[in-house]
Amino acid sequence: MCIFCKIISGEIPSSKVYEDESVLAFRDIEPQAPVHIIVIPKEHIESCDMIDESSSAMVASIFEAIPKIAKICGLTNGYRVLTNVGEDGCQSVKHMHFHILGGKKLPDRLS
Ligand code: AMP
Repeated sequence: MCIFCKIISGEIPSSKVYEDESVLAFRDIEPQAPVHIIVIPKEHIESCDMIDESSSAMVASIFEAIPKIAKICGLTNGYRVLTNVGEDGCQSVKHMHFHILGGKKLPDRLS
């Protein structure tokens, strides 16, 4: 079972900020911004690259949850949503997830 599936099952603890029937969000263990949240579908899917027609409801539920999570976390002045995919994207956990980053003005370039 992957580490995020273990967080979903409760086998590994997390700092949960939001949960519904299909989505879980928790604080990143190594935050890269004052607010750094990981948003995951409860259904295991490796990455965005595996999304197809059958994923529509799951993808919609994630993006419906994101503004709710931002509000819960007090992100009233904007934030960034990103996802890493595969080797070149530097994806370290092979369970699709979206980072919500905020709480300060973020850098506008990758490098
Ligand atoms: P990525 O590099 O896009 O795959 O992002 C994986 C993210 O998951 C990283 O920012 C890690 O800090 C975070 N992470 C890994 N394990 C945990 C954990 N047990 N609890 C919270 N965040 C985690």
